[in-house]
Amino acid sequence: MSPMLGTVTQILGLILAALLSGAIFDAMPWTISVALMGYLIWQLYQAHRFSKWLESSEPAQTPANERNDIWNHIYRQVYQIRRRSQRRKQRLSDLLERYETSAAALPDGVVALRSDHSIGWFNRAAGEWLGLGQRDLGQRIDNLVRYPAFIRYLQAERYDEQLKLVLPGRGDLVLSMQIIPYGGDQYLLVARDISQIHRMEVMRRDFVANASHELRTPLTVFAGYLETLIERFQDHPSLGPALIQMQRQTSRMRQLIQDLLQISRLETLEPGQRDNPVNVPMLLERILSETRSLSNGAHTIDSDEIDTGLWLVGNEQDLYSAFANLLSNAVQYTPSGGRVTASWQRVNGGCQFAVSDTGIGIPSQHISRLTERFYRVDPGRSSSVGGTGLGLSIVKHVLRLHQASLSIESVPGEGSRFICRFPENRTLSHKQDAVRTSDTGE
Ligand code: ADP
Repeated sequence: MSPMLGTVTQILGLILAALLSGAIFDAMPWTISVALMGYLIWQLYQAHRFSKWLESSEPAQTPANERNDIWNHIYRQVYQIRRRSQRRKQRLSDLLERYETSAAALPDGVVALRSDHSIGWFNRAAGEWLGLGQRDLGQRIDNLVRYPAFIRYLQAERYDEQLKLVLPGRGDLVLSMQIIPYGGDQYLLVARDISQIHRMEVMRRDFVANASHELRTPLTVFAGYLETLIERFQDHPSLGPALIQMQRQTSRMRQLIQDLLQISRLETLEPGQRDNPVNVPMLLERILSETRSLSNGAHTIDSDEIDTGLWLVGNEQDLYSAFANLLSNAVQYTPSGGRVTASWQRVNGGCQFAVSDTGIGIPSQHISRLTERFYRVDPGRSSSVGGTGLGLSIVKHVLRLHQASLSIESVPGEGSRFICRFPENRTLSHKQDAVRTSDTGE
């Protein structure tokens, strides 16, 4: 029997009993009224009992009995819903506990941040490294972790980038940090201890810098004596060519050492350390004139697309190295009669410097590796044009310091295009330049 039918049968039974007793005692209106009143009171009592049962935090066994009425049915339904939700809650809290225990044991630091960058949760490693305690839950992380580089990183919202943070006074702890957005407007700050890697990197850098530095003096002496010897034996049939060859190789070694020292210096720097407004159009004028001398009339060197009102916030010396390297490569890897074009203009989201040539081009499988040190597509050709294999590596480091990116497009046999894209916050229009320049007292 369905619960509804059970309830209807109960009501019908009650009415029948009221009618019968009314007929027996000849007080029909009274018996019916008493029956209805009794039924109403019973229903109210059931409703009260139900509400009390709902209020209890634990879904205790249903207080209902074996009756098959609508109340019993409601109790059973609600009881099942409550049991299901309790089981789900238990599963979720087990899951959360497991997640928190495993995340707490991670060697990496993890901080869960809310949309306003307030701290929702953090694990043991993050607490230790960043000096966070339980009292800091709910506080904004930028009020607690006050390193300027960290605050800049948080504000920049460039979440695909990582931040390398050296924590002074914490045993030279070096962290690599990244913010990962999740669930719409929440963030996970993940920190990794890279002190060991950093120490090794510094050692490697110092070694290269020291070795290059030490080699510089003997090479200078060597080059000096070679010059004297060449003056004396230039016309000697066997000694002359050998000495000239030695001089060429010595000057290559000097260039190599100079490039290695430059890379070592660039590696130690961080973006924004030595920035000033740079008059890029003027800088390009100088580089283009040097490129024309290098080409010695063998190429057409174009500079039509130069925005003369566009400056850049950066380091002039470094930008000179990068742009000059790209232009000299274009000349060196373009046969005589070819064309080299430089452009400097605004683009969506910033500005770009591009060098195109109609040279030998680069097969696509080499493109992603070109900025590696000493990577050459054709080592023989690179050496014959006097290349050290470090030019594009210098370009990559300079662009890193300017938060810029390098993209390379090339078709073998047709030519190449190297594009350096700078972000909007580094571009300056001519008017701003004047203000900024006078601000810095230049
Ligand atoms: P290198 O001193 O050998 O020129 P770079 O780091 O400047 O070293 O360049 C790395 C390699 O990339 C070069 O050896 C050359 O094979 C290739 N390359 C660079 N620029 C060009 C270009 N404009 N056209 C063709 N190949 C290029």
